[in-house]
Amino acid sequence: MKALVLKEYKRFSYEEVAVPNPAAEEVLVSVKACGICGSDVHGMDGSTGRRRPPIIMGHEAAGVVASIGSAVNGWKAGDRVTFDSTIYCGRCDFCRSGLINLCEHRRVLGVSCEEYRQHGAFAEFVSVPERILYRLPEGLPFEHAALVEPFTIALHAIRRLQPTLNDTVVVVGAGMIGLALVQALSGAGCGKLIAIDIADERLATAAKFGATHTFNSSRENVVESILNLTQGKGADIAFEAVGVTATVDLAIRSVRKGGAVTLVGNVTPKIEFPLQTVVTRELTISGSCASSGEYPACLEMMARGKLSAAPLLSAVAPLAEGASWFDRLYRKEPGLLKVVLAP
Ligand SMILES: [Zn+2]
Ligand SMILES: [Zn+2]
Repeated sequence: MKALVLKEYKRFSYEEVAVPNPAAEEVLVSVKACGICGSDVHGMDGSTGRRRPPIIMGHEAAGVVASIGSAVNGWKAGDRVTFDSTIYCGRCDFCRSGLINLCEHRRVLGVSCEEYRQHGAFAEFVSVPERILYRLPEGLPFEHAALVEPFTIALHAIRRLQPTLNDTVVVVGAGMIGLALVQALSGAGCGKLIAIDIADERLATAAKFGATHTFNSSRENVVESILNLTQGKGADIAFEAVGVTATVDLAIRSVRKGGAVTLVGNVTPKIEFPLQTVVTRELTISGSCASSGEYPACLEMMARGKLSAAPLLSAVAPLAEGASWFDRLYRKEPGLLKVVLAP
């Protein structure tokens, strides 16, 4: 089969590799669409340490079952599917209590780090355990289904920190996850829904998705603007979808005393933390990682049009052209959000 292989940092080769052989409990999926994730783009130069070459990346995919392992039941060739980006073990204490995102033996598709190498879906075929598969609703195209993962991350974060009716809610960062958060929150009964970013076009998309206010933090004092909107109190809750000191700080300073912030973004391993602001204002800070069980809900909401992937999709391109799309994303070409590659 053909695959897009990261041969060394920042160098891809579109080449012939062996078709994976599904183990007894695995399903071989013929990949029809696979999204390029920000983590792939950040990872391809070695900076995150989680894409050690050689590796076939790709964890946001959808396709058709090609064949099944000997112990698989419930799936057959031709089934339209997507799958969790996390391969969880299903047996550890965390998995058994439903916290599959916290699995002790978790592997992410298309990731190679110190502990493991797990080839992903930038290939004609990928083999995945039956337990991580989800059926696609009728009518949901593969290239939209490939975008389900960011929505599951958003839904999981909202389950970690649920807005109360009419709450003022802030979303810091209007990239894929931030925009998915805005879409999901707009249906969750928020009062004011405020999106913050440094790119006007992303803020315009956030407004289309239901943000009632958008602020460009490169131009204005966003905290002041939020205080003006909330009689000087601050927002009730905030979601942070970037993960650097400045944006986490902004999320924390945007909420009222007794407010709460959920941290989703994590592009940097460490940040400076405004300890006294958090302690003296009695804020609740929580983390949210990946998802645990939100796939079926997201797929249904996408099929109903309650969550919409189309406006996030910048391009669908042949897998053979993958290297040049990675390059364009790496160089931060303006206006590019999600690029989906089709084998
Ligand atoms: Zn991803
Ligand atoms: Zn587990």
